[in-house]
Amino acid sequence: MNSPTPLIAGNWKMNGLASSIAEAKAVAQGVGATSARVAICPPSILVHRMSEALQGTKVLVGGQDVHADDSGAFTGDISAEMLADAGAKLVILGHSERREAYRESDELVARKVLAALRHGLEPIVCVGETIDQRKAGEALKVVTGQVRGSLPPELNGKAFAVAYEPIWAIGTGLTPNNLQIEEVHGAIRTTLAEMFGEAAQRVPILYGGSVKPSNAAEILHACEVGGALVGGASLKADDFLAIVRAV
Ligand code: PEP
Repeated sequence: MNSPTPLIAGNWKMNGLASSIAEAKAVAQGVGATSARVAICPPSILVHRMSEALQGTKVLVGGQDVHADDSGAFTGDISAEMLADAGAKLVILGHSERREAYRESDELVARKVLAALRHGLEPIVCVGETIDQRKAGEALKVVTGQVRGSLPPELNGKAFAVAYEPIWAIGTGLTPNNLQIEEVHGAIRTTLAEMFGEAAQRVPILYGGSVKPSNAAEILHACEVGGALVGGASLKADDFLAIVRAV
């Protein structure tokens, strides 16, 4: 079975204005003949403008969240249908910042995954342990529990990615070593195989958490690492392109 095509996705979080579209265009111009799929996930208000600016390029646009329902009285939220209508092709779901700040449970993340599937968006589902959970030896149990709870059976055969993002590595400059990454990615692959059988081999398992140009090659060449979810280093085209080139 061939390995999945690597995916390098930038998560701009709550950063970027209309003027930042220039940075995304610079990524599209510099991306060249990469073997990776490349995506940028800006704040939702920029998705439409960025999708138009990147039309016809190799760089896909994604969202950072959606509501689990398709419409209704949910002030301030956006639906998967709206995101797809604005030109997004992917969506990050269950990011630890949302799990923490908005108390998103595995069950809610699974409902958001279903919403994404209803509207043709490819979900990137995030999982990851806290530093206390790692110190307590619970990282594998926590992460595989999140995988089981956040991925509904309807994903079987569909395009999606899982992003392993240890919470203690996000935005901190700390990263697990490759043995630690490989241990968790291996456990995620085994869990995916138990859930989805053969189709699990086609799911890229991304690593996320302080990926930068200086550590990208080492991390991306670890066993079972099928790409990266990149926060801070995705905001500057040069840094993001250096990570794409490290694939
Ligand atoms: C993220 O929040 O998805 C992330 C990986 O952030 P950073 O790269 O800044 O650690």
